[in-house]
Amino acid sequence: MSVSMNGHARRRRRPAYPARYSAAGLFRRGLSHREWPPAWRPHLVKSRYDVVIVGGGVHGLAAAYYLAANHGITDVAVLEKGYIGAGGSGRNTAILRSNYLTPEGVRFYDRSVKLYQRLATDLDYNVMFSQRGHLTLAHSDASLRTMRWRAEVNKAEGVESEVIEPAEVKRLAPFLDVSQAARYPVLGALYHPPGGIVRHDAVVWGYARGAAARGVHIHQDTEVTGIDVAGGRVRGVRTASGDIATPVVLNATAGWSTLVAGMAGVRLPITTYPLQAAVTEPVKPFLSTVIVSGTLHVYVSQTDRGELVFGASVDPFTSYSMRGSLEFVEGLAGHVLQLMPALAKVRLLRQWAGLCDMTPDFSPIMGATSVEGFLVDVGWGTYGFKAGPVSGEAMAQHIASGQPPGLIAAFGLERFAAGALVGEKGAAAVGH
Ligand SMILES: Cc1cc2nc3c(=O)[nH]c(=O)nc-3n(C[C@H](O)[C@H](O)[C@H](O)COP(=O)(O)OP(=O)(O)OC[C@H]3O[C@@H](n4cnc5c(N)ncnc54)[C@H](O)[C@@H]3O)c2cc1C
Repeated sequence: MSVSMNGHARRRRRPAYPARYSAAGLFRRGLSHREWPPAWRPHLVKSRYDVVIVGGGVHGLAAAYYLAANHGITDVAVLEKGYIGAGGSGRNTAILRSNYLTPEGVRFYDRSVKLYQRLATDLDYNVMFSQRGHLTLAHSDASLRTMRWRAEVNKAEGVESEVIEPAEVKRLAPFLDVSQAARYPVLGALYHPPGGIVRHDAVVWGYARGAAARGVHIHQDTEVTGIDVAGGRVRGVRTASGDIATPVVLNATAGWSTLVAGMAGVRLPITTYPLQAAVTEPVKPFLSTVIVSGTLHVYVSQTDRGELVFGASVDPFTSYSMRGSLEFVEGLAGHVLQLMPALAKVRLLRQWAGLCDMTPDFSPIMGATSVEGFLVDVGWGTYGFKAGPVSGEAMAQHIASGQPPGLIAAFGLERFAAGALVGEKGAAAVGH
């Protein structure tokens, strides 16, 4: 047993999983016709918790999981106004990579990729992480120059990344038009073999299940409507289900983060934009890598079911609306066909949108604020799903120790006043 930052005794608990997922278990339940128990059970909202996390996306749930699993802090509530994964975590295109531009960014996202590699085992939940490689196309000399720069920073940080020629691009993605006749000829690409895709819902559910098994309370349909601050420190939160006293509140609400921070009187340099995506009907597997074109504002990957998942950059206006637009799919289709003319007859199945909390330097804001006990894990823009594991791990460590771990020191809110931005626009504007 040890003592937390708030002086509360904490104990390392053995996880009491509701059920262990295994082939043998599947076989046994198949024979006995016994139902699987629920992944987690609902609880009544208590009047006090050691830690309250606002937002039931991958960031909030991962922080709750690592608080319990790594630090034995289990008196934790995750408050979600809708259902878990209702925000960006259930709407993203699930691309994971670590080929960023700054050394701070590369180190941070690389840790996340490493956590993702063992996540299925850690959570006993198949998150379907497929490291199929990630290609960022260069259509101009300027893009090639940035890619060489990125490749060098990546290599210096021990991350696999290299600039490849059009012929190699064609070998990896035979359906791409790399001819000089293309409107935007491909001059080369940044190839990042560890990049890939994951099943985002499974990540959210796996963290929720793992956290709940260790004692965390997950309250869906529980909107935070106010935050009580007195004497410069946080005292609790108000919800439709009653007031909750707590010394620690973590704001993990992404697109809504400025609204929640505003409840504590904290201003964040964040603007919320919608981001849209679309998926086609399933077709035979033909695309084994993720392909991104910054110039054409489009990226594509193929799921294991055969659907093509397309994304782009954020809508050109701020909004809290999560509706798709015809303008988006028209532009998207045109750009996709410039890259892969052979897809002309493939039909789109659906489109959707989510909210993105954009910061001026395309890097997150993590750590303490001017209100003691009120922490933020926000500013995830269009690229935050991949950071769920490392952010959860780091914010849990921050809450447990009272200090930000070195890996996130560069991402503090104070960097904006100090002018110490972590410029990631060149690596995060389109290729999420
Ligand atoms: C279309 C699209 C494609 C994307 N593609 C990628 C990608 O390929 N790779 C990648 O890494 N990232 C991608 N992203 C970004 C990524 O989805 C987000 O950065 C990430 O999911 C943020 O996770 P989160 O847990 O911080 O927030 P969210 O998942 O948005 O969760 C925040 C939660 O807070 C809840 N909430 C808000 N206000 C309150 C309140 N007052 N009280 C209680 N709960 C509240 C919301 O309901 C929401 O569920 C994409 C995003 C979109 C929209």
